[in-house]
Amino acid sequence: MENLKIHCFPDKILRQKTEKVTRIDNTVRELSEKMLEIMKEASGIGLASNQVGKLLRVAVIGNLPDILDEPLILINPEINDFEDWTTQDEGCLSFPGVSTAVRRRVKVYATFWNLKEEEMKIEARGILARAIQHELDHLDGILFPDHLSFLSRQLLLQKYRRRKKKAPSF
Ligand code: ZN
Repeated sequence: MENLKIHCFPDKILRQKTEKVTRIDNTVRELSEKMLEIMKEASGIGLASNQVGKLLRVAVIGNLPDILDEPLILINPEINDFEDWTTQDEGCLSFPGVSTAVRRRVKVYATFWNLKEEEMKIEARGILARAIQHELDHLDGILFPDHLSFLSRQLLLQKYRRRKKKAPSF
């Protein structure tokens, strides 16, 4: 597999919906391996395939040592049920340098395939539930500023654009 890198907003691929994985083959295995590496390198908590330029329904979650012994590889994940609401600060590897409070469900019940094509169930709360919702959004082309009010979204995007401009360009 070619070298993958994180695509940042406003890259159009972040708005594309990913396609369901029909079977676990080497492409899916290699992609999830690469995504784990990239997530680790970037010190992120989660990463979805369209963030690295691929359009398969694959996401990874990790770097949560108190909650997960091993990173999660989520293939064809779906949220089946949820409970309550909470608002917490949240950022995204595709929006480096900015974060804001986002309203999400406190608890989610999700299903997904693991790499053995076994159907897995997970009951998650707190930051893990938040990560699952954030990554599933990505897989459907939804980005975290979409959850904000018009004004908060404008402020966040303004901050993001200003921040990008400060970086040296070559
Ligand atoms: Zn993200």
